[in-house]
Amino acid sequence: MPWESAAAEDRLAAGVVFNLPLDTVFYYVVPDELREVVGPGQRVRAPFGKGGQPTTGFCVEVGSPATSRPLKALDAVLDREPLLSPRMLKLTHWIAERYLCGWGQVLHAVVPAGVKKKSGTRLVTAFMPARGVCGRIESLDLPHKQRAVLEVLCREQRPLAIDELSDAADCGTGPVNALRDKGLVTAVRQRTDARGSDLEPVETIRDLTLNEDQRLALEAIMRALREGRHETVLLHGVTGSGKTEVYIQAIREVVDYGRQAVVLVPEISLTPQTIRRFRSRFPSVAVLHSHLSDAERHWHWQQIARGEIQVVVGARSAVFAPTPHLGLIVIDEEHETTFKQETTPRYHTREVARRRAELESVPLVLGSATPTLESWLRVERGHDRLIGLPRRVEGLPLPPVVIVDVRNDPWIARGLAIGRALETALRRALDDEGQAILFLNLRGYSPALWCRACGNSVKCPHCDVTLTWHRDRKVALCHFCEHETPSLSRCPGCGSPGIRYMGIGTQKLEEEVRRRFPGVGVVRMDSDTMRRPGSHDVALESFRTGKVQILLGTQMIAKGLDFPNVTLVGVIDADTLLHQPDLRASERTFQLISQVAGRTGRSRRGGRVFVQSANPAEPAILRAAEHDYRGFVAVELEHRRRLGVPPFTHLARVIVRGPRERLVSEQADAMVEILRREAHGPEPVGFDEQIRLLGPAPAPVTRLKGQYRYHFQIAAAEFEPIHDLWQRALPHFQAMRDVEFTVDVDPVNMR
Ligand code: ADP
Ligand code: ZN
Ligand code: ZN
Repeated sequence: MPWESAAAEDRLAAGVVFNLPLDTVFYYVVPDELREVVGPGQRVRAPFGKGGQPTTGFCVEVGSPATSRPLKALDAVLDREPLLSPRMLKLTHWIAERYLCGWGQVLHAVVPAGVKKKSGTRLVTAFMPARGVCGRIESLDLPHKQRAVLEVLCREQRPLAIDELSDAADCGTGPVNALRDKGLVTAVRQRTDARGSDLEPVETIRDLTLNEDQRLALEAIMRALREGRHETVLLHGVTGSGKTEVYIQAIREVVDYGRQAVVLVPEISLTPQTIRRFRSRFPSVAVLHSHLSDAERHWHWQQIARGEIQVVVGARSAVFAPTPHLGLIVIDEEHETTFKQETTPRYHTREVARRRAELESVPLVLGSATPTLESWLRVERGHDRLIGLPRRVEGLPLPPVVIVDVRNDPWIARGLAIGRALETALRRALDDEGQAILFLNLRGYSPALWCRACGNSVKCPHCDVTLTWHRDRKVALCHFCEHETPSLSRCPGCGSPGIRYMGIGTQKLEEEVRRRFPGVGVVRMDSDTMRRPGSHDVALESFRTGKVQILLGTQMIAKGLDFPNVTLVGVIDADTLLHQPDLRASERTFQLISQVAGRTGRSRRGGRVFVQSANPAEPAILRAAEHDYRGFVAVELEHRRRLGVPPFTHLARVIVRGPRERLVSEQADAMVEILRREAHGPEPVGFDEQIRLLGPAPAPVTRLKGQYRYHFQIAAAEFEPIHDLWQRALPHFQAMRDVEFTVDVDPVNMR
């Protein structure tokens, strides 16, 4: 950093980063009138770019500049308080380095919009009488207006905002402030639109008595907690082994020490069931989900920053919760792909959490029944500690899983979703007054449209993706760009009639179930039926109360649900995941079958699982059926090691895109050429052995939303050489009109 240590120079400069893909800090002189107010973590305005446009950025450091070059001056400081602590600045800087993007971009993304806008419109100060005041109003010697205010407050018995108060007592703010100065009223911050669900009282429940396995797990976490050091603990517990109870009791310890805990869950797990579980154990829980308004996010952010929240439960971005004394981070279902952010900064929540936990010397607990190979390999290499919960609570067995070979099934051959074996099992489960969950990974009615005449599948006009027929809305829908084509009577390619609708999606499955099981209550959960906030709760409630016997749906129903009466789980088509062009296809298949299977056998009633597949010998399916995680990882890790792919390598995947294919392809070629030259350049730094450049090639989805996409990958066993090569090459990339690129480090999505 270009700072001078001596105070020889009494110029003060501020280092500023802007919301741009640059790894540069820009320096500005701090004018005298801003000296006292500027600091790291605040937003500032400064001239930037060719025309010196006033531009908002984040101040990341302040000191005396080592250069005597003339610097431009800061225009303004926009925040009175820092929006980020020094630790958060450090963390965001790490993210920029690790995910090859601009520090300013990270800061911009991490601070919620509501906080930046100070959107306090729905966050107000309200007033209440101080304790005991209402009983002695008569004895107080008060001016008329002040007395009136106090009388209103005592009558209303709830905090009143200033505007309500001045209406009711017919006064300005003066009397209210005077009362506050005298200590007769107290101010509280209040949301005017406080969400009912947040404030609804939840019955308090005492902690459960842990079983032996859980006790050992808790002790291992406690050891790290008490020693005040960072350690990552991988809690590998089969479904229903009581992982959540272990998190809760570890958090109890943290909270008892006056510290806060952050619990990260996949967005779809933010169900009332999960939330209730935490809120029934801790008095102050903040739930951060994606439906929050800017104002609500702002309100939570402030409450958390003031230390008023003990436990933050949230999706991805909750990893940035500004807890003043963090004690523990938990990531539940750490294998979930939604922990990867798919827009810049493309961070992985697990890695950010690990870094944050290191910086704050606190433990990180990763929980899963099916940990990622990344996490497992770290355990094998001795970086992280493994704790196992190999049994379900109270001695319940894991459910037996039957793999049904559908290749000779008469029903499947006729185009039905439910084969003979599954049908029989379903009838038996319903006869015994059990409930069933049917899982199918494809939404819509028919996931493939196909022309009989020319033999082509019918694709989206903007994407290289087959359209899905949605019968209820009578449209062929692109699941990538949402483009709708109204009823297709003719093939868009050759113009002939006779489009065939192939395959089975959840809509068609629902129709089949209703037809074959008349009178049985069915509810479907997928992103089509669950559009409105709250629809989740309604669907799950109807299943919980037994009004509905069959719950069917996509990933949405695969995890987290804990319904003791579910005695049957059916996986309609285990092969859909297997055939994805993705290096993690096997891993995903294994995870999903294990997770779905985990939804049954959760009580003495027991439960069974039927997995329909045309590849019954597939190891991922076989091992999942045997609940054999270790057997699966052993083989899969060896396979990945031989291929030299993650988790044995890091990848930076670069996607180049634009409306004209030729230019996109040329730009991809040019970028790879530059990278190759820099890697082997005049001063090769051993890149040959360390780094591989793969591609360029058309991306698996070559056209998306009207843009052509090409990609290439930089692969290496360690991340540093990738970082160094990228930073060396970056200044040499020539911008090309209408062509953009993004870089995705350790990508999860390979489309
Ligand atoms: P996981 O998170 O591993 O799937 P959960 O924490 O959801 O498991 O636990 C499964 C069920 O077992 C829950 O209903 C929970 O209340 C119950 N449970 C957990 N620990 C205990 C325990 N020690 N004694 C009795 N019941 C328990
Ligand atoms: Zn055709
Ligand atoms: Zn499309």
